[in-house]
Amino acid sequence: MYEIPLFKLNYDLEEENAVISTLKSKWISTGPKCAEFERLFEELIGVKHAIALSSCTDALHLANYSLGVGPGDEVICPSLTFAATVNSIIYVGAKPVFCDIKSYSDLTIDPNQIESLISNRTRAVIVMDYAGFPCDMDPILSIADKYNLKVIEDSCHGPMSEYKGRCIGTIGDVGCFSFFSNKNVSTGEGGMLTTNRDDLYDKCKSLRSHGMSTMSYQRATGHATEYDICEVGFNYRLDDIRASLGIVQLNKLKADLIKRQGVRKMYETSLSCLDEVIIPFSDNKEFVSNYIMPIVLKDSSKIKRDFVRNYLHEKGIQTSIHYPAVHKFSVYKQYTRTLPITEYVVDNEISLPMYSTLKDNEVVYICESIRKALDKWNSTVTNTK
Ligand SMILES: *Cc1c(COP(=O)(O)O)cnc(C)c1O
Repeated sequence: MYEIPLFKLNYDLEEENAVISTLKSKWISTGPKCAEFERLFEELIGVKHAIALSSCTDALHLANYSLGVGPGDEVICPSLTFAATVNSIIYVGAKPVFCDIKSYSDLTIDPNQIESLISNRTRAVIVMDYAGFPCDMDPILSIADKYNLKVIEDSCHGPMSEYKGRCIGTIGDVGCFSFFSNKNVSTGEGGMLTTNRDDLYDKCKSLRSHGMSTMSYQRATGHATEYDICEVGFNYRLDDIRASLGIVQLNKLKADLIKRQGVRKMYETSLSCLDEVIIPFSDNKEFVSNYIMPIVLKDSSKIKRDFVRNYLHEKGIQTSIHYPAVHKFSVYKQYTRTLPITEYVVDNEISLPMYSTLKDNEVVYICESIRKALDKWNSTVTNTK
């Protein structure tokens, strides 16, 4: 185990008690806890509808599917994201068109390049709010409007993250959130689809549960006795055990994010003296989730980045890379393009430990270790010249 892990679960007795109480209620599948979780989520981010699902991957699939994206269509998406964002496009038979990010310091999709990638087959754009920092939504929405494209937000990194005062995941047609263990809100596995559109809500709610017209809970409570299958749906339901974890987690979220903001500030201060380090999004003024703490090394290479990561590993500090480029994965070979900024970032980014209970002295130790790693690298390189 690492002395300083990448992430720590924000769990205590409250989560344990919530699960026990759901178990004791004897209703463990989708039911009242899911409904409560959804209402709480709607309130928290200010959206008309939220549908709890068993993962964000389900949400992304339902988003594409319910918006009518299908075979022959093209969907513009980032490559600097988790593979699920792109897999969801393949699920519906459409073609992913990879788009570069804005810069080494703004790791979100580049609106100018989106426009240049539009063809007469483009149906939608999926955007991803990296680390919880919002994409440049105003230009993205006006491009979508101009070319009649749907906008899907992969908001997995940013529950409660804001863009000009509105929460992300409420701005496009559909928002998609994940409650996988290492996310800001953790239920083990879990997801949420959000939308302000009544038609999409009705469609996705039915698709979540096989296309059935009524749910087991409605029948068990005497509100319905029969059901029809109105369309071919899926089983993407979240159970009430995990929903009860989600409720506790949502109630803790704001306080957790405020602490993360403090951790990020501490990183910004401690890293400011290292001119070889870019801190992406350092000019951001919005309230954001700080799901991860990325840095990008300047004038660097994959070998140097891996050297620094390895040095931190030896110091007991766990790091990660967000992400390996999706367009470089073997399965996506036929869709690959050259994305210079993404390609530099995936080779030179390091995700540092980020969680609300990370202490100031630990952040100082991490940043001091990065400085030593860079010194060591520089002296090795100089000595071998
Ligand atoms: C975690 C994550 C997903 C997948 O979420 P699951 O709930 O594990 O399906 C998709 N996109 C991004 C950007 C993520 O971080």
